[in-house]
Amino acid sequence: MIFVVSGPSGCGKSTLIKHLLSILPDLEFSVSHTTRLPRADEVNGRDYYFVSHQEFQKMQSAGAFAESAIVHGEMYGTSLEEIKNKSEGRDLVLDIDVQGARQIKSKLEEARLIFVVPPSFPELEKRLRQRRTDSPEAIALRLENARKEILESDVFDYLVINGELARAVDELRSIIVAHRCQFKERQKEFQEILISFKADSGF
Ligand code: ADP
Ligand code: 5GP
Repeated sequence: MIFVVSGPSGCGKSTLIKHLLSILPDLEFSVSHTTRLPRADEVNGRDYYFVSHQEFQKMQSAGAFAESAIVHGEMYGTSLEEIKNKSEGRDLVLDIDVQGARQIKSKLEEARLIFVVPPSFPELEKRLRQRRTDSPEAIALRLENARKEILESDVFDYLVINGELARAVDELRSIIVAHRCQFKERQKEFQEILISFKADSGF
């Protein structure tokens, strides 16, 4: 299953996903392509595939993206190859913006869309400043976009409020675990249990 996580920049998506990946087995992270420059602690191929505008446009013309968008003035996209390689038999988490979330939903109706919000706008501003990764201009643009993004949340299935981190991680984990507990997702395990219940199964 594909789980899309979106929300205003600085609300804590990367932090939440990092925790989620460390506690949930069989969960993969979809590494996006971007034309944005890497931040000090970011690694190519782990956080993003950092590419030039030319490379990105070439991929776009070749139809290589499942979704793509211009976000805060840079290009971002999820390649079809990334989805194919990482989603086989596993759950995949995409950290993408609202425009990308809509594109995924229109192509793949069953994808689960999760919207993450901070407890308030002033808290978002504080987190962006404290992260110390963006210039004052970049922060201003991200905050301006946040005001628009929060009004675009009607397409999402779930809302996670990232106030206390542990609680938000637990909510995110619960969404995925509840999905995995559905009858239709557990047919193989259930069949094995059913066999053990048969009178002549030897148990
Ligand atoms: P995003 O990926 O949504 O842009 P980040 O995960 O980079 O956001 O988080 C932005 C900043 O907020 C980081 O400095 C992070 O450590 C901090 N942060 C994330 N979640 C919380 C939280 N629940 N409480 C306080 N600070 C948080
Ligand atoms: P950042 O530059 O802070 O890493 O990410 C900025 C925004 O781009 C975030 O909202 C993030 O979710 C979004 N983003 C990251 N990768 C993708 C992608 O592949 N597609 C889309 N549409 N948005 C992305």
